[in-house]
Amino acid sequence: MTHIATAFPTTSTMGQANPAAIAPQRWAPANLTHLARRFEKQSPQALLNWAAATFGQDLAMATGFGPSGVVLMHMVAEMNGAQRRAKPTIFYLQTDLLFPETMTLRDRLRERLGIHFVEVHSGLPLAEQALRYGAELWKHSPNLCCQLRKVNPLRDFLAAKRAWITGIRRDQSSTRANAPLIMWDEANQLVKLNPLAGWSSDQIWTYIYQHNLPYNALHDQGYPSIGCTMCTRAVQPGEDERAGRWAGIGKIECGIHIQPDGKVARTWQ
Ligand code: SF4
Repeated sequence: MTHIATAFPTTSTMGQANPAAIAPQRWAPANLTHLARRFEKQSPQALLNWAAATFGQDLAMATGFGPSGVVLMHMVAEMNGAQRRAKPTIFYLQTDLLFPETMTLRDRLRERLGIHFVEVHSGLPLAEQALRYGAELWKHSPNLCCQLRKVNPLRDFLAAKRAWITGIRRDQSSTRANAPLIMWDEANQLVKLNPLAGWSSDQIWTYIYQHNLPYNALHDQGYPSIGCTMCTRAVQPGEDERAGRWAGIGKIECGIHIQPDGKVARTWQ
């Protein structure tokens, strides 16, 4: 596992932006919308193969070790042909507050799929965060806590990439209902791919069972969506999949998928 501690508060340790990066104007939203529609009738694997061929080493995949991420990691592990040599870097945001069960799943996936995970860290120890911003920041300023421990480190890590892959799906929440397969990530200034956007929760779990893939043990204890220990609870029957995240404080996204207009995806998709 590679560990990357991004500089605090905002300076990137990932070096200069890749000089070969595609100019943003070539990936205008309208062009990406057209491309995304073409892939709607194709498999997630087709999009992953296209992305690997298009972006090569400048492609990264984020995972929070949720069920969608497990499916995507298996699809990447199964890549063959020319794409085998251009598999995306798979990384996760280490907030220092992840569940032990999540770390166990990471280790099982590493063993089962041979993944070399890159750990992206804020560089800000929890003790120092408490000194600077007060104890239990997640309780009184969860948006700032997410900004420091997730959003800023992600932005710094992606500064050296041209495209990233996420596991978000339209059926996860109302905020994600318009998520396209391909979009321009205005917040992080690169192409964003959501290969499983159109998949349902049932499809995800069918895939996991069919391939006998490991998953987070907490899913069997009423936790359909799992983040940091301090901000995740089990959900009741009939509740939204993400209802257990930041429950009771009106926050439903950590911020890594939020665009400058405050939405996960534009409604023109
Ligand atoms: S999910 Fe909670 S603990 Fe984790 S970074 Fe966000 S506010 Fe902090």
